[in-house]
Amino acid sequence: MHGTRIHEYDVVIAGCGPAGATAGALLARSGVKVALVDRCTFPRPKLCGGLLSGKTMALLGHLFGETLETLSAGGIIDFVSREYSIHWKNRALVRQTSDVPFILVKRNVYDRFLLEKARSAGAEIMEGHALTRVDADADEVFTSPGMRLKARFIIGADGCHSVVRRSFPMYHGRHGEWSANMAVGMEVAIPRNAATQDMDHPCVHLGYLDWGYAWAFPNADSVIVGLGGLVHKNKRNFKDILATFLFDRGLISRPDEVLGLHMQGHPIPYGNEMHIPVYKDLLLVGDAAGLADPITGEGIYQAQKSAQMAAQSILQALGTGTHPLATYPSLLRKALLADLRYARALRVIVFSALKFLPPRLIGCLVAGAHRRALGVIHGTRGYPFTIRFPQTRPERVS
Ligand SMILES: Cc1cc2nc3c(=O)[nH]c(=O)nc-3n(C[C@H](O)[C@H](O)[C@H](O)COP(=O)(O)OP(=O)(O)OC[C@H]3O[C@@H](n4cnc5c(N)ncnc54)[C@H](O)[C@@H]3O)c2cc1C
Repeated sequence: MHGTRIHEYDVVIAGCGPAGATAGALLARSGVKVALVDRCTFPRPKLCGGLLSGKTMALLGHLFGETLETLSAGGIIDFVSREYSIHWKNRALVRQTSDVPFILVKRNVYDRFLLEKARSAGAEIMEGHALTRVDADADEVFTSPGMRLKARFIIGADGCHSVVRRSFPMYHGRHGEWSANMAVGMEVAIPRNAATQDMDHPCVHLGYLDWGYAWAFPNADSVIVGLGGLVHKNKRNFKDILATFLFDRGLISRPDEVLGLHMQGHPIPYGNEMHIPVYKDLLLVGDAAGLADPITGEGIYQAQKSAQMAAQSILQALGTGTHPLATYPSLLRKALLADLRYARALRVIVFSALKFLPPRLIGCLVAGAHRRALGVIHGTRGYPFTIRFPQTRPERVS
C-alpha cells in the first residue's frame, strides 16, 4: 500500500448518503477541493421510509433553494399527503390533517439528487470505493480497490457502521453502550394494487413492539410497510412482528405468507448521539455520529443538518485556522444535540406509558399530544423545554 500514489484534497468525505452529499455540496460550492467516496454506485438502494419532515424541507430550501414545487418538477418527490393517522395496533386513534405536508421520497432517487448537487458544485465523486482504513495521524484514508487519499480534514458520513468512527479512541470500549441503543428498522414494499384500506396517507401504529413503532407510508406505486425499535427491548423476532402487522392490515392473508415477501432490515442509531464527534482532523456526521431521533427514528434531517454544521466549521477552519473541535460540537449542540438528548430522556416516559397504560388511556394521551408531536416532527417547535431552537433553526417552518 505504501507504493500507492497519494491523491490530495482539502476534504475527503466517506459516504455519499444525505450527510456526505450535503457536506460535499456545501464545501465544493465554497471552492474547497473535495473528494466523496462511497462503496456503492449511485443510484443505490437504501432501506428507509423516505419521509421528509417539514424541517427537512425547510433545510433544503435554506441550503439549496429547493421547494415542494421544484422538487416535484424534478421528479424527486414520490408522494405528498397532508393527512396522517395514528393507531393502537390496528385501531385508529387519530386521523387528522397537517398544515405542513408529509413528503415521501424514494431514497435511491433522493440520494442521487443530493449527490448530483455535490458533483455539479465541483466535488470529485468516487463510487464503488469502500473505505477500509483511516490513519488519523497522517490524515489519510485507504479504499478498496486500492486508493490512498490525503486531506486536511476527513468527514465520516459512512452511516451506522462507520469505519471512520472506529478511529475514535473515545468510541473504543463503548460498543456495549452503542449496541444498547441500536434499533433495527425492517421494511417491505407492498404493490399498490395489493394494498387495501387507509393507504393514501402515512399511518403510524403503536403497540406492535416495545420502544419503537410500526408504519405504513404510501408511495406512488407501493406502500412501504415497516417497523423499527430497540433490539434488546423486544423479545419477539422482528420478522414475526412485521408478519402480524401485515396480517392485521389485511396485506397478507396468512402470517406465513410473509416468507414470500422481500423483507429487509437495517440498523438505526436510536439514542447514540455523540457529543464530541471530532477526533484530530476527523469529523462525524449523520448516522455515523449516532444522530437519528431517539423517539421517531428520523435521521435524514439530522444527517443534512449535521453536514451543514460540519461544513461550516471546516470552512471556518480553512479560512481562519480555528480547529473544528472548537466549533463543530458547539454548533451541533445548539442545532441538534439539545433536542436529541432531551428526546432520549423523554422516551423513557413515552415508551413506558405505551407499554404499561391501558389502550383506552393511551388513546386519550395520543389525542391530547399528537399536535405537539407533529410540531416537533415538522420543526415548528422543539421538544418541550428545549427552548433554544428559535435561534438555531433559521430555516424553521413558518
Ligand atoms: C427502515 C428504516 C426506515 C427509515 N425511515 C426514515 C424516514 O422515513 N425518514 C427519515 O428521516 N429517516 C429514516 N430513517 C433513518 C435514515 O435512513 C438515516 O438516518 C439516514 O439515511 C442517515 O443518513 P447518512 O447520510 O448519515 O447515512 P446513510 O444514508 O446510511 O449513508 C451512508 C453512506 O455511506 C456508504 N458507506 C458505508 N460504509 C462505507 C464504507 N466503508 N466505505 C464507503 N462508503 C461507505 C453507504 O454506501 C451509504 O451510501 C430510516 C432508517 C431505517 C433503517
